Amino acid sequence: MEFLTQKYAQSLPERTWHALKKKINPPKPPARPEEGTILNHVIAIDGPAASGKSTVSRELAKRLGFAHVGTGTLYRALTWKLLDEKVDFSKPALVAERLKTMKIECGIEADTLVMRLDHIDPLPHVRDGEINEYVSAVAAIPAVRQSLLEKQRELLNHGPLVVEGRDIGTVVFPHTPFKFFIDADPEVRAARRAKDGEKDSVASRDAQDAARKAAPMMKAKDAIRIDTSTLSIDEVVETVLGFLEGKGLFENADAHAVKEAK
Ligand code: C5P
Repeated sequence: MEFLTQKYAQSLPERTWHALKKKINPPKPPARPEEGTILNHVIAIDGPAASGKSTVSRELAKRLGFAHVGTGTLYRALTWKLLDEKVDFSKPALVAERLKTMKIECGIEADTLVMRLDHIDPLPHVRDGEINEYVSAVAAIPAVRQSLLEKQRELLNHGPLVVEGRDIGTVVFPHTPFKFFIDADPEVRAARRAKDGEKDSVASRDAQDAARKAAPMMKAKDAIRIDTSTLSIDEVVETVLGFLEGKGLFENADAHAVKEAK
């Protein structure tokens, strides 16, 4: 599969560790990236189901010229594959065994996530009705999260990203200074999902996602919480852009670029 290299926004020139070193010390990554490693910006957007984070993330990515990655798609794709193969995911050891041989490929094409599981594109199936019902159970299995962690971090090699999910600011990209937790009242979220015409018990998914031991959904301590209950998409995007400006994304582009080390 050929992945196109992400184009940088005009104001954000390509950066390397070598170039960065001369200018300013970056926020401390856990281990020093190798010389020549490309550093990029990540905007981490976490939050519960139907909080509006997908629409906001997509619009934000478009305005910034970043690629958009909805990490829920990755968990949905694995859920589809395991269901399709009738793997009993109530037995985490069986899932872990299957994942050992599964070829998982992720990339960015046309500014969005692409994926293959054993050479098959799972994306046409990820909104199938039954996926909503099982995805939180699959996402709670540590081997599933482990198999996707590096794949998510590697996407940063394609260029700057807006990444949305449940554990992006806490686990996947904990060193980015640009973190948001997008929330809305439970009734508002249930109504939004019903309006989409999708069968989805958002309350039950949220409860499972927040209660699991492995990378539970939570607001990172340094994330900015935005309640979208009474806001339009445009208002949320403008609010996020305002915070990004305040945090120096535009003036001091190189300083906040990150590469999450293993
Ligand atoms: O975002 P979306 O609703 O598509 O996510 C589907 C499910 O994938 C979530 O309910 C959650 O169980 C799982 N997920 C996760 N970690 C992420 C993104 C999604 O566990 N970073």
